[in-house]
Amino acid sequence: MGKSRGPVWVIAEQIDCRILEVSFQLIGHGRKLAAALDTTVEAILLGHKMEEHPRQLFAAGGDRVYLGNDPELAVYQPEIYTEIIEKLAKERQPEIILVGSTAMGRELAPLIAARLDTGLTAHCIDLVIDGNKVLESRIPAYGGLLSIICPDRRPQMATIATGVFPNPEPDESRTGEIIPIEVPKKIPRRIQTLEVVREEPEGMDLESATIVVAGGAGAGDPAGWRKIAGLAEVLNAALGATRPAVDEGWAALETMIGQSGKMVSPELYIGVGLSGELQHMVGISGAKIMVAINNDAKSPVFEQVDYGIVDDYREFVPVFIEKIKEYQGKLKTC
Ligand SMILES: Cc1cc2nc3c(=O)[nH]c(=O)nc-3n(C[C@H](O)[C@H](O)[C@H](O)COP(=O)(O)OP(=O)(O)OC[C@H]3O[C@@H](n4cnc5c(N)ncnc54)[C@H](O)[C@@H]3O)c2cc1C
Repeated sequence: MGKSRGPVWVIAEQIDCRILEVSFQLIGHGRKLAAALDTTVEAILLGHKMEEHPRQLFAAGGDRVYLGNDPELAVYQPEIYTEIIEKLAKERQPEIILVGSTAMGRELAPLIAARLDTGLTAHCIDLVIDGNKVLESRIPAYGGLLSIICPDRRPQMATIATGVFPNPEPDESRTGEIIPIEVPKKIPRRIQTLEVVREEPEGMDLESATIVVAGGAGAGDPAGWRKIAGLAEVLNAALGATRPAVDEGWAALETMIGQSGKMVSPELYIGVGLSGELQHMVGISGAKIMVAINNDAKSPVFEQVDYGIVDDYREFVPVFIEKIKEYQGKLKTC
């Protein structure tokens, strides 16, 4: 008999007592990893007034939930959350810890990894167990997919964005064990979160949009960006961006699509002035029909989309907008 392996852990995340979708997605995928390792899936849930919530984590595929239920944990407190998870991980020796690549997870995961003196792969787009029963974390890099392993340290850690893995079908008949976590009363802390203020997203929600128009570095300047935004508006589409468009300050960080941004799955995606780099394209792999507008006929984006328009978007987009308006006008008069 081989040595039994520690569990697969998912750090579940809640905001205002609502468990985020990514937590269920990670539990769903965690089940596959756990099956390959012949071990269990466990979630850590920290919050307040969360007594009923472990049921949802069991329905998603969790076997056990460590529940920290305390007013101190109602909102994410980096130092307290880290301290609790570090202590628990040292006791329970998980094999793998999965964390959502959310604002919280992007901070919490490296804090935990540093305390546990282990490795962390950020923004993974796939996770598999290899032939040696080691976690293979896949990220886009060097124009392809790079597999990263952490052979010598445990736990193996990864962050994964919302939408990388599907929502598991909830099985309400599943039950599991709830283990209460004692919340240490005296944790020295330099940071205290007083409240979480939700920023109202501008424009349409990218993740649920039927049509997404995304702009890239080729927009060139703010005036160009407004042209691309105009296309989104006339199509009643959500407006997304590549990283350079965010770095230039034309678009908000929340609108970035890709490995370190959002995953979208619209019926129609139109990419304007972007080159089709894998880090962006992984974010649109769920799109049904993909169109690219690029003035370079040799751009790699054309190899990845269903329809390509080789043109300067500054020439093409205004004409396209007029044609769409004409068509919409005809529809109204029919
Ligand atoms: C760890 C890591 C994570 C990353 N995560 C993300 C991520 O989540 N999302 C993301 O987007 N990027 C991400 N990136 C960056 C990514 O690698 C690319 O650099 C980025 O996606 C390129 O953006 P782009 O296509 O807008 O720019 P470019 O590659 O510069 O392409 C611009 C395109 O515009 C075209 N163009 C120029 N002028 C015009 C015009 N007038 N009309 C039409 N076309 C024109 C050009 O031909 C060119 O193809 C990440 C990188 C790393 C290393």
